[in-house]
Amino acid sequence: MPFQSFTPPRRILMGPGPTDISPRVLAALSRPTIGHLDPLFIQMMDELKSLLKYAFQTENDYTMAISAPGSAGMEACFVNLVEPGDKVIVCRNGVFGERMRENVLRSNGELITVDDPWGRAVTPEKLEAALKEHPDTKIVAFVHAETSTGAMSDAESLCRIAKQYGCLTIVDTVTSLGGIPVKVDEWQMDAVYSGSQKCLASVPGLSPVTFSAAAIEKIKQRGTPVQSWFLDQSLVMSYWAGNGKRAYHHTAPVNSLYALHEALVLLHDEGLENAWQRHRKQHDHLAQGLRALELDFIVPEAERLPQLNTIHIPDGVDDLTVRSFLLNEYNLEIGAGLGDFAGRAWRIGLLGYGARNENVSLCLKALEEALQ
Ligand code: PLP
Repeated sequence: MPFQSFTPPRRILMGPGPTDISPRVLAALSRPTIGHLDPLFIQMMDELKSLLKYAFQTENDYTMAISAPGSAGMEACFVNLVEPGDKVIVCRNGVFGERMRENVLRSNGELITVDDPWGRAVTPEKLEAALKEHPDTKIVAFVHAETSTGAMSDAESLCRIAKQYGCLTIVDTVTSLGGIPVKVDEWQMDAVYSGSQKCLASVPGLSPVTFSAAAIEKIKQRGTPVQSWFLDQSLVMSYWAGNGKRAYHHTAPVNSLYALHEALVLLHDEGLENAWQRHRKQHDHLAQGLRALELDFIVPEAERLPQLNTIHIPDGVDDLTVRSFLLNEYNLEIGAGLGDFAGRAWRIGLLGYGARNENVSLCLKALEEALQ
């Protein structure tokens, strides 16, 4: 049998990412590939940097997109900032906090873990107690929006506490950026990474990052080279530097960067505050419908992410049967539970372009039918 082109169906993506992508972003993706050192491409990259600074609310010059998914952004932060023997506190309340711990261990850092239950925010008082007990801590790391549970932590308070104890922060904003406030400069965050496929609503595979002057200084003062060549930010920066003198580091994913640029233009046109409000409004819409279906949230209201809704699967209902029904009958994807929540929870994403009235209404209708 000859091989044929792959033509996927048009799904409605309401899981934990990737999310629905605007036709404008998909159109940008299919524009002609040009050289990644072409002057016009470099001009686009400069704009992309400015747009990312806007999304992150930062003046950090060191703001760009790593040519790999969110996990690479995470790894870039850890391998560059953590030197062997550095004490690092990781606040863990889900799968991605656990992944941060792995990164500390693989960077030969000394790991201290502050645990909170799955489905709850990180408790600032617990972080403060750990810092009192370990005053020689160099770095505090936490996940702002835990995609595995739908819990939102208070990034501003956690960063303030870390600064009071003279620590740098590594913050995961993969699911928060563009969906809820992320204020890198105001909240004094140091190394912050995100992902292209969540509330920025572009294609998966890029990880926006931003580093504060203090984070850059820590990298410059390293006594040991970063063990990863590809993620060594001191090398990558020679490509992204905004001084018109770009040097080859690796071949940039040209078309994916067009798509991210377009997604960020859309975000800029809408305005960050309006985007945050839209996510909140669609969350309220969804919450109202779920209540009518007697479906309960796992996360307490004050700690809920509007863009990632984790719901208890009712007793006697089979997880896979319902998700298969939604996929086959409605072309609608919602997410399964992850880790501790596997088989016990559904995750409904309202991420970026996916946070729209018609998506929420369709999801509620489909769930109602599936649960009859
Ligand atoms: N951190 C969080 C909070 C995430 O939700 C994800 C992905 O879902 C990642 C990190 C890893 O991103 P990626 O899957 O793009 O590597």
